[in-house]
Amino acid sequence: GEPVILSDKCIGCLKCIKVCPAEALEIQFTPEELAILEELAKQQGGVAAEEEPDEEAQALAAMLSAYRGVWVFIEQTEGEAARVSWELLGKGRELADAIGVPLSAVVLGEQVEHLCHEAFSHGADQAYLMDAPVLKHYRTESYLRGVRHLIDQHQPEIILMGATGLGRDLAGAVATVVKTGLTADCTGLAVDDKRNLMQTRPAFGGNIMATIMCDKYRPQMATVRPNVMPMPEKQAGRSGAIIRSDCPIREEEILVKVLEIISDKKKDHVDIAGAEFIVSGGRGMMGSDNFGILKELADELGGVVGASRSAVDAGWMPQDRQVGQTGKTVRPKIYIACGISGAIQHLVGMQDSDIIIAINRDKNAPIFEVATYGIVGDLFQVVPAITAGIRALKA
Ligand code: FAD
Repeated sequence: GEPVILSDKCIGCLKCIKVCPAEALEIQFTPEELAILEELAKQQGGVAAEEEPDEEAQALAAMLSAYRGVWVFIEQTEGEAARVSWELLGKGRELADAIGVPLSAVVLGEQVEHLCHEAFSHGADQAYLMDAPVLKHYRTESYLRGVRHLIDQHQPEIILMGATGLGRDLAGAVATVVKTGLTADCTGLAVDDKRNLMQTRPAFGGNIMATIMCDKYRPQMATVRPNVMPMPEKQAGRSGAIIRSDCPIREEEILVKVLEIISDKKKDHVDIAGAEFIVSGGRGMMGSDNFGILKELADELGGVVGASRSAVDAGWMPQDRQVGQTGKTVRPKIYIACGISGAIQHLVGMQDSDIIIAINRDKNAPIFEVATYGIVGDLFQVVPAITAGIRALKA
């Protein structure tokens, strides 16, 4: 409805305009209203315009300019890097080039120097290496202290981490102790003309994209999920400088001890995030038993079965198969969506797939807007026909 000024409350300070997150407020006063506001301001003592004193602005500018460089945290387990770290080096390269600073990899662990060289081949100019037995296994406290030590010494302006279990844990801890902002699960990163990081991510249940800035604190920290940023091309033989750091952490200071590592590889675990072929089913599958036809097609392709949230909520598929905003982000070579309408929360998790094939009986389903190939029809006829077609080709 029409905006109303509550004359017993409003003192005309215009603060509401500044704080509106959607920048949607504008107030145009008539001369009569202005007179009323002036009168109210006189009565209530008024509010002086909130001009930042120059000194404060200068101190802020000096603090901001003391931080230089783009960092990517290289997540590793037993000496093997998480793929998302390389994806982030690709984006980090773009950001570093845009502001004219080096791109650095941050490598913590025990006997992990080889990861610095891998980071160079994925675009890093240099690597901060903290190599010590106390960092052999990830523990929040030891890694937090290690990263904090490096930040204090070298003051980067941007730090990117993967939005994995480990990355989410570490990024939150680091942002808290260095007292800066952190934007989780970014889907877009860029820098503005003042070299502030523009961190874009879905907000309000995925209905809008919000661009979040951290323009008064450094470093600026963001996490990005696996498969959101494209993998940079590997440049074999590309080299860089390794900056070795002493490790300020003593084992006896760390309360958490790793007693044993139990691998979940033996479990029936399917990694949809790393799959090249995904056949996903939605509410249109009508029941868990019907997912068998998707499994048959996935097996022919050497792929895995995914699901929409509706299918997961209905108990037809486990949560680790869910694609989308509250599930996994996937980027397979081929994504086949069967009986999935294409809600925005699903699309954000799969729209960057190389080829999308949608099967839906409703020709107006939004999934067709992102599909490379759309098949309007009954999935219970179409899916077995595709499987049979592939088998015939192989025979
Ligand atoms: P529906 O929207 O019901 O679509 C079913 C489709 O199947 C229809 O288009 C229908 O035409 C088609 N169909 C039916 N029978 C057949 C047939 N025999 N042959 C062919 N086609 C058929 N959703 C996700 O998927 N992932 C998420 O991570 C996610 N996160 C969310 C987070 C939030 C905060 C919110 C609010 C929602 C989220 N959702 C998520 C839910 C999302 O909004 C949708 O409700 C959901 O994706 C719909 O699932 P669906 O496409 O399977 O079902």
